[in-house]
This record gives sequence, C-alpha cells and structure tokens, in this order.
Amino acid sequence: MLFQLTPPGVNFVKPKFCPFPVALILTYLLFTPLQALEVGAAAVKIDLPNNSLYLAGFSPNRRSRGVHDPLWARTILFSKNEYTFVLCVVDCIGLLHFDTWDIRFQIEKELGIPAYGIVIASTHTHSAPDTIGIWGKPPWKSGKNPLFVQNLKKAALQSIRLAFYNRKKAKLKFGQVSVDSVLKDSRPPVITDSTLSTIQALDQQRRPIAILVNYSMHPEVLSSKNTLISSDYAHYLREYLEKNNAGIAIFCVGSIGGMQTPRVKSSTFQEAKRVGRTLAKAALTSLEKSPFQKIHSIRIFTQRVHLFMSNFQFILAYHLGLFGQSTKQKLRKYSQKTWLPYVPADVSLIRLGNLQILTIPGELFPELGHAWMAKLTSPHRFIIGLANNELGYIIPPKQWTFGAYEETMSIGIRTAPKLEKAIFSLIQQLNSQKKE
Ligand SMILES: [Zn+2]
Repeated sequence: MLFQLTPPGVNFVKPKFCPFPVALILTYLLFTPLQALEVGAAAVKIDLPNNSLYLAGFSPNRRSRGVHDPLWARTILFSKNEYTFVLCVVDCIGLLHFDTWDIRFQIEKELGIPAYGIVIASTHTHSAPDTIGIWGKPPWKSGKNPLFVQNLKKAALQSIRLAFYNRKKAKLKFGQVSVDSVLKDSRPPVITDSTLSTIQALDQQRRPIAILVNYSMHPEVLSSKNTLISSDYAHYLREYLEKNNAGIAIFCVGSIGGMQTPRVKSSTFQEAKRVGRTLAKAALTSLEKSPFQKIHSIRIFTQRVHLFMSNFQFILAYHLGLFGQSTKQKLRKYSQKTWLPYVPADVSLIRLGNLQILTIPGELFPELGHAWMAKLTSPHRFIIGLANNELGYIIPPKQWTFGAYEETMSIGIRTAPKLEKAIFSLIQQLNSQKKE
C-alpha cells in the first residue's frame, strides 16, 4: 500500500528491508519553461472534539479546558506546468510519518500530485491536542485522540484541494531579515538561527495571494500552565499579516532544536501576541525592497531514510501502542516484526528559482542547520522543520549527553549522521542536474 503510486519520471522501487539503515534515493526533475508559475493557498479550520483532550508538549496528563484560538491546516502550493510542490502546515506538536503519508498518498490519488512533492509540516505549538501519543496519562494511556487526528487530516486534505483548485498565475518575492529580540537558546552552547525568511505570492494584478513565514523558534510562549487550545505566537503572527492584507498567512518553523525558545517576560497570551506581531512586522519589512523573482523551474529531490530507534522510552511507548494501534501495526510491518523499530522518514530539497528549501523530519539543532545550509548555493535558503515526520530532537553526536532532556526526546544518536548523508546526497544531485 505504501509505495503503490510513484511520481512521474521517478524510477522508484519498493525497498527490501535491510537491518542496517540503507537510504533509498528518489529523485524527480521538474522542468518546464513554457507555462507561468501558478500559486494557490488556503486555510481550513480543524474541527475540535467537544471533550477535554490531552495537550502535547511539556509534561504528560495536561488536559485542555477550552479553546483560545482555532487550529488550522494552511497550504501554499506552487505549480509550473503539471509539476507541483505543496507545503501544508498544521497546528500541532508534530505528525508521525504514517499520518503524513496518509495525506500525501490521498492527494496523489485524487489530484495526481506526486506524494514526494508534498510536505506536511507542523507548527509544533505546545497548546494543541496530542498527535503523537506520549502526553497521555502515564504509564499506559495514549494521549493521541483518533477523532482529532482524523479531523486534522480532513482539514489538511481540504486545504490542499482548495489551494490546488484556486491556484492562479503568480509572481514571487523572497525576503530575509534577522530577528534577535524574541529568541533565546536555553541549552548551551548558545547557537541560534535568527533569520526570518519570507515568500510572498502576488497575482497578475499584484494582489497578495499568500505569505509564508519561516522562523526557528518553539511556539511555547504559553508554557505548561496554559490549558487553552491555541497555536501560540503563530496565531498572532498570521492574524497580523492577514489584517494587513499580506495574503493567506502560513507559518512554519526551521531549526528549533537545542533549544530555541521565545524570549518573553511572562507566559501570557499578551506576550504571545507581542512575539507574533514582532515577527509579522519583520516579515513585512523583509519584503519591502525585494524584487520579483524569476522562477524558471521547480525541482524537488526526495530521499527516504530508515532510522534506528534506540531511545528506550520510545521503544516502550511503541510496544505499549501509545503512538496509536494503526501506527504500531504499520511500524511493526515496516520493521519486519523486530523488537527494535526502524522508522521511515523523508528528507527533501526543493528549488524555486533562487530559493532552496531543505525539509527536515524533526527538531534540528541550529548548528547542524547552519552546516547543512552552508552547502546550499542559492542566495535565499531555509529549513522547514517537523516536515513529514516528528523524530524529536536531531542532535549533533558530539553534543550527545546521556539523560539530558533533548536526548530523552530524540529517537537516537545515529539520526543526525544518517540525515546528513541523505542531505548531502540530495545537494549533490541538485548540483549535478544544474550542470546539465
Ligand atoms: Zn520541541
């Protein structure tokens, strides 16, 4: 079921499982000079069940007691001839591979967009229902609410459909600006990525269609004391941009690991608003003098990796079924019924004219983000974190400290080198194609 459909032009073979993680390379080249770039965007609210839900992030057994602001699935879609790159960002702590695949696979079936050109990312808000399962009631009760996950998938699918059918001829502007004032690193060594990156799409009459903002910081202004459902500062960021007619606003995080957190005076909605508006204003500033970009082609390179889960707590959670029974069954099948699960994850490199985007399936430490982005060649570049999976923290092996918080929320020490190898291979493919 997993690999029935393949993107056009992709020489894709179902991998034989190997106990040693073997990367599977998938590449497709998208190049069409004839038709204009088209962009579509949409925002769809996620229906929330009426009952109290376990909230994700911080500590387990935190129940919701109401809703402060709605949760969303928001999509921006770029299309050049029949080739399309889709980014859908959902308000939750993160989605596991198989849940993102359900959405990507369904869209491939319905709209013919290759699943490998679709990225489902999460804002990582710490005030949304648990979509992973480890924040329920210890030790046995999963926090993952099947109805909420189902509603989230429905909203994601609908936002992609609407973006696809509403797409129109568009021009793009790219912006980049540094914002230090609202960001801090709470884990030494202090290394941040304070770059805020922006893409704005405008139609033929120069009316804004959509604005995408990328910034490397946890949406956790509200802290563990909050029990109202919210997308944290992302809510205020998007609200400000839309009130100022910047287009449908989509927010995604970058390298938020180790440990990129908001610099605030208190854990209040007022502070979340201040942070969100600061970032929104910076996004608008970043676009003020930016020219329209020439987008000759869209290229997407995707590689699947198999990652070894060595975190004892996660292995236990897997066997207890905390990630959900369906995820357990799929992971068990994927791991050839071994006790130690292997986790599939996709990494992608996307090129849109002068912009290169790396998508990473978890919470990347910024030191790794800086090193990997230094290998890219475009003047504009950024990382989308928590993309098509949430593997937890992705930690440089030299910094690995047994028992430290981030390590307890990481699938293992071998994750970063494995992903690095895949990413360098994607960059090599992009560079070799450029020479052709
Ligand atoms: Zn986190």
